[in-house]
Amino acid sequence: MGAYQACELACLHCRAEAQKKPDPRQLSHEEGKGLIDQIAEMDSPLLVFTGGDPLMRPDLYELAEYAIHKKGLRLSMTPSATPLVTKQAIEKAKSVGLSRWAFSLDGSTPAIHDAFRGTSGSYELTLRAIQYIKEMNIPLQINTTVSHYNVDDLENMARLMEEFEVALWSVFFLVPTGRGQVDDMITPEEHENVFQWLSVLSSKVSFDIKTTAAQHYRRVLIQHKKRSKGDQPSVFQDALNYGKIRIDDGLGRAPKGVNDGNGFVFISHIGDVYPSGFLPIKCGNVREQSLADIYRYSPVMQQLRNPALYKGKCGVCEFNKICGGSRARAYAVTGDYLESEPFCTYQPKQWRKQ
Ligand code: SF4
Repeated sequence: MGAYQACELACLHCRAEAQKKPDPRQLSHEEGKGLIDQIAEMDSPLLVFTGGDPLMRPDLYELAEYAIHKKGLRLSMTPSATPLVTKQAIEKAKSVGLSRWAFSLDGSTPAIHDAFRGTSGSYELTLRAIQYIKEMNIPLQINTTVSHYNVDDLENMARLMEEFEVALWSVFFLVPTGRGQVDDMITPEEHENVFQWLSVLSSKVSFDIKTTAAQHYRRVLIQHKKRSKGDQPSVFQDALNYGKIRIDDGLGRAPKGVNDGNGFVFISHIGDVYPSGFLPIKCGNVREQSLADIYRYSPVMQQLRNPALYKGKCGVCEFNKICGGSRARAYAVTGDYLESEPFCTYQPKQWRKQ
């Protein structure tokens, strides 16, 4: 995942604490290409240009072209909905082969979305950008961050997803890092309710749904499947696939559920490598070490991938190998990335016995 810190928006929950001006230390064009070379050597990678706002990087399309055509990478992009998202910008992205565009939409009305994004007019700009994407027949992904600002608006949001004919609704659950605060989050019980609602919704709608920082959603899916089919060995694999994958844009989906530092890394605009964009513990820098070495051998990454080290409920939970809780949220709330997921209501069998 490549990142660019500058951005014109001032979102309340921004994990990047984005600034309006680019950082002079950011990776150069040649360093960007070198990083893409390294990413291409990883196992079946999916690269996402994110930010800040990736559109503020002038060599963005050259890097995209290099990644797609020279290195054969699957590439997606999550630009901010600013005036930089013009028809020409989208045409350019289509011509270099970007398979899918993702925009953030956090409310079904300007009042809800703009308050969350910290910028008035952001809702209108997002809808205009969505219109361009639809006109050009490019698969559309909408990212929504669930917080107490919009939890009561999710039904309306789901209706909008149908109306926009999105390929994928990517539902993030707030991690209180960067500008995000614990007070902005929904409660553990509300997490459970939203998971239950999403699991039912996913079987009814025409678009695909994926969650981020909601590893315990996998547990809910497994529990649903167990109830509906009986306890068959295949239910775990079914649940890890998050239901049907309907998108046909070549990007596909991770073959298994990812977690911070486990099937996922975040690389900052200056080359620092983190387990994810929500877990701000630096594990190395691509200017000093190869990405593969950092991912494989960083002690933090290795600990994150070892459920036997998890503490509290997650340490004894029968779901910890396929869920494990959000390691980023555990860190953000408790200061320990091995602690139990603090926003899960489940009482593991072992935990109940203790
Ligand atoms: S207790 Fe931890 S491992 Fe178990 S379902 Fe909850 S978050 Fe997942």
